[in-house]
Amino acid sequence: MTSIAWIGLGNMGSRMSAHLVSAGHEVRGYDVVEALRERAAEHGVVPVGSVTEAVEGAEVVILSLPKGDHVREVLAGAGGVLEHAAPGTLILDTSTVDVETSAWSHGQAGSRGFRFVDAPVSGGIQGAAAATLTFMLGGDEADVEDARAIVTPMAGNVFAVGEATHGIAAKLVNNMMLGISILAMSEGSQLAKQLGLDPKAFFDVARVSSGDSWAVRTWYPVPGIVPGSAANENFDASFSAMLCHKDVALAVAGAEATGVKVPAATLIRDQLQRLLDEDLGGKDCTLVVREASPDGGVEGWDGR
Ligand code: NAD
Repeated sequence: MTSIAWIGLGNMGSRMSAHLVSAGHEVRGYDVVEALRERAAEHGVVPVGSVTEAVEGAEVVILSLPKGDHVREVLAGAGGVLEHAAPGTLILDTSTVDVETSAWSHGQAGSRGFRFVDAPVSGGIQGAAAATLTFMLGGDEADVEDARAIVTPMAGNVFAVGEATHGIAAKLVNNMMLGISILAMSEGSQLAKQLGLDPKAFFDVARVSSGDSWAVRTWYPVPGIVPGSAANENFDASFSAMLCHKDVALAVAGAEATGVKVPAATLIRDQLQRLLDEDLGGKDCTLVVREASPDGGVEGWDGR
């Protein structure tokens, strides 16, 4: 049994932390939202009232936070992890952050005697619930091997990708590809509809043909086709437009910095930006399907 502090009990963290409890670890959990702490307690996480309380005595600290700024604050802010955890503690960041924040986290943690591994995940809340996430680990080899043992109960695949920040770099490239898959799925689902195809009949073809993708199988944006689709729930977020935009924008920034040409990624980034501009950033990222719809209307969405 390992004593684990879990910071951030949102869509991913609530589901992931439950598997560590099931694996026999003692998990103390903190989120700024009290209702989420209470919900985590239902699956055996011990809810605590601060980061400080969560990390005291912990052997491992795991972060699942929205953005780089949150990670920096939780790590190095007043009352944060680096101030209150014991030196030598293994810190895993499962959040999707920019490469600079990940490098900064490695540097801050390392210079203060902590072990840090960037440990972003892929697989959505479905993967988090089913313990089939892909973990991409970056850091010192020995730390990565210790991290592998911790994340295994939450994982379908665990990859030691390379040195510090290589996990997050792999994640950003992967999510840029996911964004482009969503674009293809949006346009395909709408064209199939306008050509008079039954959506289920077309989905059955695409999922076993060359139009298939993880997005198609998991998030097909028409109600009643796949169980995990946000279209079944008025496009309430399983992966919000805001978070998806963050990932694609970070990848596009990386492409611009390295001279790689990414017009498709730029297009989906801009479509997601329009959702944010209309205060729809909390809705699911697959609501970009509206961009392909002839009149902007989307089956399964009440328009708000
Ligand atoms: P979320 O917004 O549902 O959860 C993040 C949680 O962090 C929230 O509950 C928030 O209250 C909490 N939080 C914010 N600041 C905090 C602080 N200072 N102290 C404690 N808690 C704090 O987001 P999510 O969907 O669970 O995603 C978490 C991370 O995982 C993100 O970086 C996201 O990009 C990444 N991710 C998400 C998915 C997905 O499908 N949702 C998939 C892969 C990776």
